[in-house]
Amino acid sequence: MIVVMQADATGEQVEHMMQRVRNLGLTPHLIQGTERVVIACVGDERFKAPERLAVGAGVDKVIPILARFKIASREVKAEPTVIPLGLGSLGGERVGIIAGPCTVEGREMLLETAHAVKEAGAIALRGGAFKPRTDPYAFQGLAEEGLAYLAEAREATGLAIVTEVVSPEQVPLVAKYADVLQVGARNMQNFQLLAEVGKSDKAVLLKRGFSADFEELLLAAEYVLSQGNSRVILCERGIRTFEKYVRFTLAISMVPALKRATHLPVICDPSHGTGRADLVEPVARAAIAAGADGLIVEVHPDPERAMIDGAQSVTTEAFTRMVRSCRKVAEAIGRSL
Ligand code: PEP
Ligand code: MN
Repeated sequence: MIVVMQADATGEQVEHMMQRVRNLGLTPHLIQGTERVVIACVGDERFKAPERLAVGAGVDKVIPILARFKIASREVKAEPTVIPLGLGSLGGERVGIIAGPCTVEGREMLLETAHAVKEAGAIALRGGAFKPRTDPYAFQGLAEEGLAYLAEAREATGLAIVTEVVSPEQVPLVAKYADVLQVGARNMQNFQLLAEVGKSDKAVLLKRGFSADFEELLLAAEYVLSQGNSRVILCERGIRTFEKYVRFTLAISMVPALKRATHLPVICDPSHGTGRADLVEPVARAAIAAGADGLIVEVHPDPERAMIDGAQSVTTEAFTRMVRSCRKVAEAIGRSL
């Protein structure tokens, strides 16, 4: 349930209600709207006592939340959450693009890619230093050395750094270097990892598991939000279907569906979502047309030599062309890029 405070409620009244919620054995989450403050009360349903909270000073009304995901829900917060990131933001009027190699392969290639994607209009740099690989013998990433190169690229360009964290124990190390902690599709329901990134002060990019449904994605986001981290970005990156021509099937319809259900920014990954460099640009355009707040795209200076995901990585030149054509789509629907 949520406690909606009156527009002129005082700070003391809000604090008093937060304490009353705690006394009921529930956890209060303060949500600062543009007009009024709302307190989302999460915890065991049995302890909820709406009538006792409704009479509190400064309270307008107490409303039950129907969705199973509470803090993520539009019912709790109607206006979009805007997350400032690097050279732009995600969730506002402006569409933001995160771009870079699948994996940090070395210092030179990373810096070269960072400068090129910045020039093309990206706001953040992606690159894995810890890679969750299906094959235990495959390259697992440069680990801390890769994180250091990412931090150097941020210094050089101003781009924010988005990089994956694969286990709860790694969160402090990755958070030392990254601006955004990426939770990969294979870890979307690693609940300990979700709780750990939820305690971090870094934004979280949560990728949809490839067999996870709409509600499971939002409940995974709720794990992070319920730990106090309000900066969660959702990413549709494609699911497994019978289709083999593309690597995964990117569900464009998830974009407007998610945008309706949640205030969190929603982005798409046309690289993993297709597995084919020649399909990245048209699918990126479709994602923006459907209302995505941004994209995450794999870009490599020499995709033929990429250590991981070369087939779906676009060159820096193709990325530059892609941003130009995506900008036109953004403008056609009243946004900018
Ligand atoms: C990635 O972004 O390189 C990645 C591994 O993505 P996903 O978790 O969506 O497969
Ligand atoms: Mn990849």
